Amino acid sequence: MPEKRSKAAQPLFNRVAFIGIGLIGASMALAMKRNNLAGEIVACARRDETLHTAANLKIVDTTTKDYRAAVADADLVVIATPVGTYRDIAQAIAPHLKPGAIITDVGSVKRDAISAIEPHVPDGTHFVAGHPVAGTEHSGPEAGFPELFEGRWCILTPTDKTDKNALNQISEMWRKIGAKVETMPPDHHDMVLAITSHLPHLIAYTIVGTAADLGEDLKQEVIKYSASGFRDFTRIAASDPVMWRDIFLSNKDAVLTILQRFSEDLSGMQRAIRKNDGKALEELFTRTRTIRRGIIDAKQA
Ligand code: NAP
Repeated sequence: MPEKRSKAAQPLFNRVAFIGIGLIGASMALAMKRNNLAGEIVACARRDETLHTAANLKIVDTTTKDYRAAVADADLVVIATPVGTYRDIAQAIAPHLKPGAIITDVGSVKRDAISAIEPHVPDGTHFVAGHPVAGTEHSGPEAGFPELFEGRWCILTPTDKTDKNALNQISEMWRKIGAKVETMPPDHHDMVLAITSHLPHLIAYTIVGTAADLGEDLKQEVIKYSASGFRDFTRIAASDPVMWRDIFLSNKDAVLTILQRFSEDLSGMQRAIRKNDGKALEELFTRTRTIRRGIIDAKQA
């Protein structure tokens, strides 16, 4: 079947440019290479060290610090930097995009990402906002691995300006690197992620900060006896400070709404403990155990 063979050999994109080649960018680049989705991959970042690592580990084919050189002739541009950099990057790359190029992003917050990028996207090029719900607490190109997205969700958040063909191509790319694709409105995404990801990170940062502020002796004991509960929080609280600063500032409204609800529920727990209300505690813990089992059953544990 020669026709089938030649179709399979044709990459989805001839040239792909990654602006930012850390955990997410590097994992995508490796997965795209493995699945023959890109003819050539170029990475752009600020530091030589980042680019040397990406080149030495053969994550990408070429590297540059120049946005213009990176996006020139690229069919797909993936913005994979912290969300707070998006506006400047969109402005810098816009004049140099090839007609017909697709721009996508991987930012953990969508409404802010869209308002930073979409106004700068030139006519004849297309922007598709996305967020792979997959990650680790590690950063940099050396943290990347091609299996990161396998079986994980990638949420695409099209707007009324999103081109249908571009949306289909980005969906296809994510599916081919193993992700399950879902679309939803950006505000809905931001509220869902505020509860499932942003609030847990805020809690982890706060608990570990509280422990760090305790007296020196107690701090030693905290480290010495850290059972899995505290240990799990320290893992989450080791996540990249710049990325998480940008997430909280970009998703301010949704995070504050969820935090308000959480504070009310926490007061309820405080009251239950003070009043020796074991029934209330047990009821909640039973309900939460069921949720955990549901996550395991959905293979998202
Ligand atoms: P990361 O490992 O810290 O990588 C960030 C990359 O961006 C680095 O290569 C960095 O290199 C580069 N960079 C930073 N500022 C830049 C700029 N102004 N111009 C060009 N390059 C720049 O971060 P990550 O975990 O991959 O996260 C990237 C994005 O993915 C974020 O928007 C985050 O919200 C989203 N995300 C992360 C996760 C996660 O679990 N980590 C999950 C889903 C989505 P230099 O420092 O050398 O410039």
